[in-house]
Amino acid sequence: MRKWLIYALLAILLYAFPWLIPSSYFVHMAQGFLYTYIVVVGLNLLVGLSGQLSLGHAGFYAIGAYTTALCTLANVPFLLSLVIGMAACALTGAFVAMLSLRAKGPYLAMVTIAFGLLIEIVANRWVDVTGGPAGLYLEEPSLFGFRLGVVEYYWFIAFITLVIAALVDNLFTSRIGRTFRAMGNSEVAAATVGVNVRNWKVLAFSLSALIAGVGGALFAFQNAYFNSDSFTFDKSILFLIGVIVGGAGTRLGPVIGTVIIFLLPQWVQSLYDYHLLIFGAILLFSLIVLPDGIVGGFGRLMGRRKQLTTAHSVVEDTAEEKSDDVRWAAERQETVLDVEHVVMEFDGYRAVDDVSLEMKGPEVRGLIGPNGSGKSTMVNLLTGVYVPTAGRIRWNGRDVTSFAPHQMAAVGITRTFQNLQLFGEMTVLQNVMVGFHLHYRTGFWANLFHTAAFHREERQFAAEALRLLAFVGMAEKAEETAANLSYGEQRLVEIARAMAVRPQLLILDEPAAGASHYEVEKITKVIRNLKDVGISIILVEHHMEIVMNVCDHITVLDFGKKIAEGRPEEIQNHPQVIEAYLGGEEVSKLVVGT
Ligand code: ADP
Ligand code: MG
Repeated sequence: MRKWLIYALLAILLYAFPWLIPSSYFVHMAQGFLYTYIVVVGLNLLVGLSGQLSLGHAGFYAIGAYTTALCTLANVPFLLSLVIGMAACALTGAFVAMLSLRAKGPYLAMVTIAFGLLIEIVANRWVDVTGGPAGLYLEEPSLFGFRLGVVEYYWFIAFITLVIAALVDNLFTSRIGRTFRAMGNSEVAAATVGVNVRNWKVLAFSLSALIAGVGGALFAFQNAYFNSDSFTFDKSILFLIGVIVGGAGTRLGPVIGTVIIFLLPQWVQSLYDYHLLIFGAILLFSLIVLPDGIVGGFGRLMGRRKQLTTAHSVVEDTAEEKSDDVRWAAERQETVLDVEHVVMEFDGYRAVDDVSLEMKGPEVRGLIGPNGSGKSTMVNLLTGVYVPTAGRIRWNGRDVTSFAPHQMAAVGITRTFQNLQLFGEMTVLQNVMVGFHLHYRTGFWANLFHTAAFHREERQFAAEALRLLAFVGMAEKAEETAANLSYGEQRLVEIARAMAVRPQLLILDEPAAGASHYEVEKITKVIRNLKDVGISIILVEHHMEIVMNVCDHITVLDFGKKIAEGRPEEIQNHPQVIEAYLGGEEVSKLVVGT
């Protein structure tokens, strides 16, 4: 209700603007503001949510402008031209994303700079088509035979802006937005709950490019003329300033960011020779002093962090429900993990050396060994983070040796991390809800339009996430921002998130590391309960009292080699194990369990 009220109010305000301020100069300004805002909103989706950087968005802005303009010059109706322009941008966006997929951080930035420059050069030099610096003259746009004057065109832009703002806001508050944000927070964690990070990156890039293209197309028809001077590198920087200074990943940030980049060029006009320097300084200053932008900084002052809205009522409704309701694994299958002679080499160094491992049915398997003995590497092999140099991994009879993490999740293997990998910006509940990634049934459009099915599913999974949180004893922290939790609490939330995948095999990499004594007890209890639910568990742990108490079998690694395997009492007295621990500096590990 409140949402619709806000949209209605905005719509009335935008509609009335030309009457409130009846000056074509200001209506013109408003047009510029709105289409710039559209671009910033799209870039915010990319930079703020999915954590990818683009320093070439002026390129998409240009493609939107030229494609739409050239289509209308070829007598294609204006609206259809706009749609073609959008499609061209979405495709180029996907293409650029695929080109840069292997690149991250600075390299991704360089790919996007190159793309922006390439488009700028093409716009400038391919005079026959783009008109180059001399530009293109267009007709006034017309809708269904009706010519749009300055005010009508402003209304048209305002309408498009509202639609895009509303839809992007819907994405922000749906699982699509959560997935983008999760990926931006931790790619590897997103992958281990089943997110195909590659595809989702392409989707984010493509969407963002499409939206930038709309902005460009709307710009092109503003004056019935434009030329190649509008698509320079500093335009891309300006868009980025809008996102970052306003507050990347926030919902209000783009509004404030657009105000700033709208005023900025006018402020620096007299210092034109230094404008790039000034832009750069503003970006740096913002990143250092206000890392979450103006909106985020203001939010912190007010004592609250940016959050996605979730179904709050659900939290209250189901907090009471019993925690032992986690029953999906009851139809327990005979899970069979069969690891045959795996080797993992890093530059010739064998971190895992010819290890074989077999698990039949639900059991808790301890994986222990001194520091650096290859336990985490083994976990990475079993969850698809690394592909073994040699050897084979079979899971329920299937060869999964070269599966990627999201494919491992899809067949029922997931994990928690030794070095915590929660989605820090998100709430505890949202973290767990991302865990259901593989189980959502509504598609992109349902999430974009917030259909009834979408709302039903959100409520269902919020309730289920809450049950999982209750299972690990974290229900009362559901609305807390994950980054604010203690180590032990974060480990418990990671377990709840991993359970949301509904795994058959759950691998816990040092779940008690860094936890307080009280939290260690809690975690031990949770592991016991997990075992009762019927999930197979591989437990990597240094706390020997946990290992000896909850494990059915224990496998011991030393220097990447398996040196022993058996029941806890056998392992405790195994001469080679004692030697491995006594031989190094790890004496206390086995004896005291620190
Ligand atoms: P553990 O978890 O048992 O403490 P790890 O599996 O983390 O041990 O590491 C085993 C060995 O492999 C260590 O010597 C470590 O330095 C090395 N290692 C792990 N990952 C990598 C990597 N990505 N590149 C190079 N060496 C690695
Ligand atoms: Mg480790």
